Amino acid sequence: MQETGRTGRKLGVMGGTFDPIHHGHLVAASEVANRFDLDEVIFVPTGQPWQKAHKKVSPAEDRYLMTVIATASNPRFSVSRADIDRGKVTYTVDTLREMRAQFPDAELYFITGADALANILSWQDWAELFELAKFVGVSRPGYELNADHLQEHLRDLPADAVTMIEVPALAISSSECRRRAAENRPVWYLVPDGVVQYISKRHLYVPGAAEGS
Ligand code: ATP
Ligand code: MG
Repeated sequence: MQETGRTGRKLGVMGGTFDPIHHGHLVAASEVANRFDLDEVIFVPTGQPWQKAHKKVSPAEDRYLMTVIATASNPRFSVSRADIDRGKVTYTVDTLREMRAQFPDAELYFITGADALANILSWQDWAELFELAKFVGVSRPGYELNADHLQEHLRDLPADAVTMIEVPALAISSSECRRRAAENRPVWYLVPDGVVQYISKRHLYVPGAAEGS
C-alpha cells in the first residue's frame, strides 16, 4: 500500500492507458523493480490520454479495475487513481507532479516503453519531467530502444536521468488484445486470467456493446 512521507523510498511509476493491462506491462514493471531495487511500483491508469484524444478508450473505471485485478497478487504493486480522478486529459508531467507532492522524499522512477520514450520530447513540459523523476526506458519488440534524440537535452543532467534496460521481450499490445477480443479470439495468457474474465463479463471491446453497460 502507498505510504506517504517515508524517506528514502524508491518508487516506480508506470503510466499507461491499460486498455487492457497485459503481461508486457507487468513484466516491464517487475524487471525495473528488481533492477533498481524499488520498494513499490505504482501503476497510474490515465484519464483521457492526450495522444489518444481522438480514439475511443474504455471507461476509466474499467481500466482502473483491470489494473487492480492484474496487480493485486504482487505486494509491491499498487494502483493510483490520481490521473483518473483529476478528470482532465492526462499529461505525464501532471502525473509526476502529483506523485512528487504525495511522496516528497521518495526517489521516483518513471517506467516507459521504447515506443513512448521515442516521443518524449513532444510531451507537455518535457524538460520538467527530468527534474521530477528518473526515467527508465524498457525494450519493446518492434521498437528501437535508444535515447539518442535526448542527448542534447541530457547533457546538463546527471548520467542516471535516463537509463535503458532490456526486459524479456513480450510482443503484446493492448491494441492487439482489443482486436482479439472484438473478433472473439483468445486473450488468455496475454493478460492475467482475472482480466480475461473481466473483459468478458463487461463485454469490453465487443463491437456494438453499449459503453459503460
Ligand atoms: P495501445 O496498443 O493501446 O497503445 P499499449 O500496449 O501500448 O496499448 P499502453 O497502455 O499504451 O499499452 O502503454 C503503457 C506503457 O507500457 C508505455 O510506456 C508502453 O511503451 C509500455 N508497454 C506497453 N506494452 C509493452 C510491452 N509489450 N513491452 C514493454 N513495454 C510495453
Ligand atoms: Mg501504447
